[in-house]
Amino acid sequence: MGASQGRAIRSEIGQVSGVQRTPNSPPGNLYASRSARNRPDGTAGTGRLRRLASEGRLAQAAADARGYDRQQLTSAAYELVWPLVFNRLTRRLEQQRGHAACAAGVAELADECLDRFHDDVEAVVEDLLVHARKPIQNLDAWVTTRLGAATVNAHRRRRGVRGALQRPRLPVWLIDELGDDRWLRTLATNILVWVGVTDTAGAEVWPLDSWAQERAGILGDWPGSDRITVEREITQVLRAMQVRPSWYESFVERPLGTKRAPVAPMVANVYGEPANPLVLGAPDDPVEAELVRLAQAAVRAIGLRVTAGEEAGPTVVEVIGTVFGGLSTGTLDRAPHGAHDPLEGVSGALADQRRVERIVRTVQSIIDEHPGTDAG
Ligand SMILES: [Zn+2]
Repeated sequence: MGASQGRAIRSEIGQVSGVQRTPNSPPGNLYASRSARNRPDGTAGTGRLRRLASEGRLAQAAADARGYDRQQLTSAAYELVWPLVFNRLTRRLEQQRGHAACAAGVAELADECLDRFHDDVEAVVEDLLVHARKPIQNLDAWVTTRLGAATVNAHRRRRGVRGALQRPRLPVWLIDELGDDRWLRTLATNILVWVGVTDTAGAEVWPLDSWAQERAGILGDWPGSDRITVEREITQVLRAMQVRPSWYESFVERPLGTKRAPVAPMVANVYGEPANPLVLGAPDDPVEAELVRLAQAAVRAIGLRVTAGEEAGPTVVEVIGTVFGGLSTGTLDRAPHGAHDPLEGVSGALADQRRVERIVRTVQSIIDEHPGTDAG
């Protein structure tokens, strides 16, 4: 298609489709126009659309149409296309995702699935209005044969624009990190797909409800598949991804940062920037992850030396001083004012006898609970 032609149709579609993105209207009105005054006659529009298609003139007519005329054509195209998309494409995809509820009908689609459905409908309408250049006798059948290619191409275009992986495939090192867990691997793929698409899950960073449904379908664990569990597992997958920081930055953090900000009350910081931008979790997460890594290393080292007969107190002070006194690589990229320095308190504590005793007791209890001296 010509780029400008595609853009023109897209913007017109936006006017029609942006009108009513709620699923609760009766069939036939899903893409009705906002104002009754400007509403093109649906029946007349559909008849004209089918006639133009059968004469092989639809694409040309759509390209030439302006104003009300164009609106009538796009409205008719939506009316024709959306039931085909839902019945021939969306329903099957929702079943594959394990979304039995979503598969029941457009009105039952979860928010993020409804957004995906609208994107697919929009893609197919655009495809129809641009490509119907030859006489088409059975328009429904013709549109049906194009559903897959039209929606996949649109999906790739959207992903390409955001710089996400075109077709996400988990790298081998990540599969190793995640271990032999089919659901975690699925979740990792979902995350890579999700960061590449335009929509947000309402006010949330991740579509937790949708993924909880999918988890239940895959694991058969209905009671255990709730939002909290999925949230915890997302954190687990993100940690595994962060093992390769530059990969993580390129394929998760950066594309996610270009996603549309969620529709939620924003609080501005002193620079007038949103104080709660789209982030993956608490802002101190990388710091915390680094501290956990260092603590595990410290406990392992202390455990080995105490087991070998060294005295606990001096060993703890020495190891903790060594481990936490070193560079904390995970926090080097943070501006000093961006987060408090979590290690400052540690070096201070080692100079205080009572706090040293408390640290020694804590470390000792960790070692006792993990006799293998492997706290990881
Ligand atoms: Zn769904």
